[in-house]
Amino acid sequence: MAMYKSFCFILFVTASAEFVWKHHNNEELPQVLEEVNKKCPNITRVYTLSETSVRNVPLYVIEFSDNPGFHQPYKPEVKYVGNIHGNEVLGRELLLGLANYLCDKYNERDHHIRSLIHNTRIHLLPSMNPDGWQLSMDVGHQDYLIGRYNNHSVDLNRNFPDLDAITFEFERQGISHNNHLLKDITRLAAPLEPETRAVMRWIMSVPFVLSAAMHGGDLVANYPYDESRSGAPVSEYSASPDDDTFRELAATYANAHADMSSQNRAGCRAGQDEGGAYNFGKQGGVTNGAAWYSLKGGMQDFNYLATNAFEITLELGCQKFTPEKDLEKEWIRNKDALLAFIWKAHSGVKGIVSDDSGFIENAIISVVNITGPVPRPIRHDVTTGVYGDYYRLLTPGRYEVTASHPGYLPVSRIVTVPQHQTTARILNFNLEPTRSWFDDYSTFSHYLRAGQPRIYKRDLYRQLTGALLDRSGR
Ligand SMILES: [Zn+2]
Repeated sequence: MAMYKSFCFILFVTASAEFVWKHHNNEELPQVLEEVNKKCPNITRVYTLSETSVRNVPLYVIEFSDNPGFHQPYKPEVKYVGNIHGNEVLGRELLLGLANYLCDKYNERDHHIRSLIHNTRIHLLPSMNPDGWQLSMDVGHQDYLIGRYNNHSVDLNRNFPDLDAITFEFERQGISHNNHLLKDITRLAAPLEPETRAVMRWIMSVPFVLSAAMHGGDLVANYPYDESRSGAPVSEYSASPDDDTFRELAATYANAHADMSSQNRAGCRAGQDEGGAYNFGKQGGVTNGAAWYSLKGGMQDFNYLATNAFEITLELGCQKFTPEKDLEKEWIRNKDALLAFIWKAHSGVKGIVSDDSGFIENAIISVVNITGPVPRPIRHDVTTGVYGDYYRLLTPGRYEVTASHPGYLPVSRIVTVPQHQTTARILNFNLEPTRSWFDDYSTFSHYLRAGQPRIYKRDLYRQLTGALLDRSGR
């Protein structure tokens, strides 16, 4: 029996390949994920997005959760997206390394990682643009631009619906509506690429709370908005309603990185396309997107304006195509930041909205910051999911949080968000039905603070977003 056991052990060890720091090609990438899944079958699941790349390469995701495949109430969902620009490769390898690390540490019973995985659902998409990666590889990855685009020569980080234009127009008209804006779009500036469509469907179907997109070419954590309000191409700070929270999210990554936030480091060279001779270390390793340069159709702002997810953009280094010999060193420089950022999904408040008969899906959570002498409404609401659950990322302070839904009396509660959270404050709401049906914006708004958004109906929303995605098929 003892002999049999050791025989099995040897088989097990030889059957699973060691993770190696290298540039994994498009065939090796899913193999790494499968290996991780084999080592950690109970906490991982490998899946593909709804569409392949132009050249039919599947877009692979690995998920970490103690209940893979399922959303659970009170458990925030986080994603990392790498290699959107095919020639910006570090994110792709960092995410493969992170998958391997999470699995190994979980198996070693590392308390920190176990706690993270038991309380968070984490999705890693190492490559959104495998075709660009291949092209970049084929030309010897020397050029600053070749491989950036997908196989239709489209920049995927300019291909998302431009929801900034809608929110800025609403601002000009005095309409205080700044969430789930996809239904307000009437036309697309360009057809959606298959990679974009696949990622949009993913973003719209999983209730993500927090996200980061990975790029290369500079060293900075960039936060919304990416688009300037005036159309200025550079140097116009474009704050979102959650500017405080976004700055803290970006600073979390920058401060936990080896030297992103270092005042003394040298700046990266001016680039050809994403230019400016900035030294972001001097400003703490963070920047507002449009304060650097303005872009339309980016993924970051789409996340924030179409869903409940808060996404930032990570520029992981001066080089776009990191040499293979530097990959492990870069992992060490980024590891703590990658983990610290995921933990930020546990900041602010979360809870469940229900009535006496069950969960209320699609309830609206509105927040007013009452930390200072003057209350400041944060004009960006989040909504509850299928279990009536919501997640509202907030910086430390005092807030008035209101849950509302047509057909119910709104309820407001005061909450203090402390410093250094590893779990969000829980704030549940039980709503009482009312005979009046406040489905009309003008009536309903009387029951809320001034400037609250209009109500949207979920089936109408689904119908419209579904139609939009289907129409853009090519
Ligand atoms: Zn990029």
